[in-house]
Amino acid sequence: MDKLKDVIKDSLSETDSPTDSDGLLICEKCGKPKQKKMVLPGRDKPFIVHIPCECEERAERERLEREEKAAAKAKADKMRRECFAASGFYRDCTFETDDGMTPALSSRCRRYADMFDPKEPYGLLLWGSVGTGKSFMSSAIANRVINRGFSALQTDVRSIVNLMESSFENRQRNLDRILGYDLLLIEDLGAQRSTSYMMEHVYSVIDGRYKTGKPMVVTTNFGGDRINGSISDSDDPWSRIFDRILERCYPIRFTGQNRRTIKKEDMRKVMKERLGI
Ligand SMILES: [Zn+2]
Repeated sequence: MDKLKDVIKDSLSETDSPTDSDGLLICEKCGKPKQKKMVLPGRDKPFIVHIPCECEERAERERLEREEKAAAKAKADKMRRECFAASGFYRDCTFETDDGMTPALSSRCRRYADMFDPKEPYGLLLWGSVGTGKSFMSSAIANRVINRGFSALQTDVRSIVNLMESSFENRQRNLDRILGYDLLLIEDLGAQRSTSYMMEHVYSVIDGRYKTGKPMVVTTNFGGDRINGSISDSDDPWSRIFDRILERCYPIRFTGQNRRTIKKEDMRKVMKERLGI
């Protein structure tokens, strides 16, 4: 019954729709024609075809925009899973969730991410002591760059070595993959004890990025003597790696309170109260 009512309503509204002097329907909202007459060769009688009015064209544009947005979001979500595969925790580190404790550092990192261009070889070296938010910022950069439609991979020495410790063919394929990302982020460089064999793999990745002119963001706990080049010894494998990095990555020093200590103190305060200590 309701269906029948709808049909009657529709046909009524169709007949109620305004028409132009030729009897063609015009849109009551935008006043533009919704029909036009067409004449086919060899046929005398013109026939009437539907044409989109301004409202329909706008609705179609909006539908396409929604589809494009959804596709871009799906692409970014997929890229994010790939980027943070080795470090899922960092996936939620964004400039929006920044605690605001170091506004100058946040601003520099955000500017880098906002102006990121994969054709530009320069990157960042985030250095400073433990717990100063280097990994958070590096992850926030990755997230912003991915949101802007670029590809990124966050990795560390262990993952690089795992990827490179395979057959020659696979090694080449994995190296090509690492070199293919618009941005490569290497976490905690120098944190673990590394054998010369491991360092060789790390060097080949960093040197590959260097030679292909592709940007990197590197975080490290290494101190200033390493960064300002006062330790530069050709026999020292780290010197060789840092020479390459410092040619392309602008060093930003992370200072300030250790967030881990603050978190520990917060936890103790809460628990002391709860436990009646
Ligand atoms: Zn209209």
